[in-house]
Amino acid sequence: MTNLSDLPIRDSLKGREPYGAPQLHVPVALNVNENTHRIPEVVAVDIIGRIAAQVLEINRYPDREFMSLRQALAGYLGHGLIAEQLWAANGSNEVIQQIFQAFGGPGRKAMGFGPTYSMYSIIARGADTEYVDAPRAQRYELDVETALAGMNANQPDITLVCSPNNPTGTPVALEVIEAIYDATEGIVFVDEAYAEFAADGTDSALTLLEGRPRLMVSRTMSKAFAFAGARVGYLAADAAVIDALRLVRLPYHLSAFTQAAAEAALAHAPLMLEAVADIRVQRDRMVNELSDLGLDPYRSDSNFVLFGGLQNPDSVWQQLLDRGVLVRNVGIANTLRVSAGTQTETDKFLTSLREVLHG
Ligand SMILES: *Cc1c(COP(=O)(O)O)cnc(C)c1O
Repeated sequence: MTNLSDLPIRDSLKGREPYGAPQLHVPVALNVNENTHRIPEVVAVDIIGRIAAQVLEINRYPDREFMSLRQALAGYLGHGLIAEQLWAANGSNEVIQQIFQAFGGPGRKAMGFGPTYSMYSIIARGADTEYVDAPRAQRYELDVETALAGMNANQPDITLVCSPNNPTGTPVALEVIEAIYDATEGIVFVDEAYAEFAADGTDSALTLLEGRPRLMVSRTMSKAFAFAGARVGYLAADAAVIDALRLVRLPYHLSAFTQAAAEAALAHAPLMLEAVADIRVQRDRMVNELSDLGLDPYRSDSNFVLFGGLQNPDSVWQQLLDRGVLVRNVGIANTLRVSAGTQTETDKFLTSLREVLHG
């Protein structure tokens, strides 16, 4: 056995640790923003049937262009999108990686608005792309003025806008995205991983795609669709953007099983999304009850809540874990982040937190 540090690894990876929240087996896991509801049984049965059909042909490579899945994704998103404008990969993280492979690289710079999704900087490093975080405004909101200041200061080739933003929960208004687009000749990537949890009447950045060929909007099936284990993320953009991603994707990157499972899930989209309404209720309940506990929750349009007002988040994190409740310390001073669970899980989190704080 040798040590990692003894290998001729790339300089940019020396001394690094692999990213990932602890995967602990606990009764109430609210740490990685999964949908904690199981998928409906009729969908599970349909998935199994479609995968079974694929097994019989598994000696052959799958459809490299996965047109049938792209068609289904276009149908789900609506907004007049067509299959040629859709792309998918093994999680939206892989989509982001492909974007960096196609549009980043040495000498190019990517920018997010921090604190934001940690994978942006990690994927940038893997693609030898410089990464900077521009600041947000008060309470992690992002307004036009603050966004443009970041654009002007950094002149990024790739701008990543997470809306609603992980880990803060805060949404970004479309006028901000339009202003960012107009301020750059580079790529603008809007990560809408949590879009389905937004308040009714919230417009998606998908409405901005027409006439903006450098804009890309990504979604995932990992959160609202309760499909995290299947690994399916996707992107909508101008068809030319998809052609760029086809230059860097590995051939047959989406397995026949993945394609079949995702198509089955999309065929039952309304049913798959039925839990979303309850998750929003639990999220809003968390926000209210956290305030009642004297804590400071941030505005959230997603399925999780970042809350401040903790003197010792590490100790609260551990004491919650001792009670079987796993949340996330994302490294923002005095805060923790918690995903909205089922009603029972949310009850358990709130009761445990009350015990930890007030004995
Ligand atoms: C969870 C999450 C994703 C989804 O990642 P997958 O690879 O699709 O599971 C993407 N972006 C953000 C901001 C997320 O929080």
